[in-house]
Amino acid sequence: MATIPTITLNNGVEMPQLGFGVFQVPDLAECAAAVTTALQAGYRLLDTATAYQNEEAVGRGIKASGVARDEIFVTSKLWVSDFTYERAQRGIDASLQRLGLDYLDLYLLHQPYGDTMGAWRALEEAHQAGKIRAIGVSNFYADQLKNLELTMTVKPVINQIEVNPWYQQPSEVAFNQSEDVRVEAWAPFAEGKQGIFTNTTLQQIAQAHGKTTGQVILRWLLQRGITVIPKSVHRERIRENQDVFDFTLTPAEMQTIAGLDQGKSQFFDHRDPVTIEQIFGASLKDLK
Ligand code: NAP
Repeated sequence: MATIPTITLNNGVEMPQLGFGVFQVPDLAECAAAVTTALQAGYRLLDTATAYQNEEAVGRGIKASGVARDEIFVTSKLWVSDFTYERAQRGIDASLQRLGLDYLDLYLLHQPYGDTMGAWRALEEAHQAGKIRAIGVSNFYADQLKNLELTMTVKPVINQIEVNPWYQQPSEVAFNQSEDVRVEAWAPFAEGKQGIFTNTTLQQIAQAHGKTTGQVILRWLLQRGITVIPKSVHRERIRENQDVFDFTLTPAEMQTIAGLDQGKSQFFDHRDPVTIEQIFGASLKDLK
């Protein structure tokens, strides 16, 4: 079983470069089993969220794996319905309780909406109290990230954003990297949209290396200095997705994949007022 290399975050904490995501695994038994499979296959980074409603199953999967807690890097996220200082304090404790853990390795503000500053202050305090080893954000554009950095005390270690061959976000990735905020790609496979696994360009590159298209995509992200958290509930794919550290894409292949960029999110534009209403509007009743 090959060891997954780590990187050092801007606060000195070490984090695996590749992990396991559990979005859209609502069946809790399936989720727990997938987490156990992933840990036993060698994954050491897990990515869940309050909004995924499966933190409890992730906790169960960890326990069943037999892997020691201190070998695992557990990430969860606070949902927008808890974006006030007081609600965030409770939200952090609730995540810990559901996961059955006494600390989190990384906790993220899931979206850039509402009282992010109040919520961030609660994350800072939990970090200082030793409940969370590192704190970060998700779906923050450069201006929102800069605003948070300038307003608050602790700098985010991570910004988890959508990055995949169809939506490569070169300027956002470069900005985060210039700020020493690690980019973590969600939906690295664009959730399979537009036939990504059978794309001819990616297939040709995969063939040249004796790899799969999924492995080529993950390798391309890693070579851009991006952390990846692919999701699968299938044992063979779980294994396949972590087997990406024994080959290197050439500069020409990296360029070819850069040419696939469509410059558009495959899901939603986080700056679109309609999206903001959809994601955040439903939470307002909880915040009043
Ligand atoms: P993804 O990883 O891009 O794609 C997952 C899909 O690809 C699933 O349908 C999976 O099917 C399939 N798949 C996985 N490996 C495969 C392979 N080797 N060959 C063929 N098909 C394969 O999508 P995602 O789950 O949305 O993103 C990854 C993680 O990012 C999430 O799980 C979550 O932790 C995080 N995320 C965060 C945000 C955010 O706002 N911060 C948003 C979305 C996701 P099977 O499961 O059936 O194998």
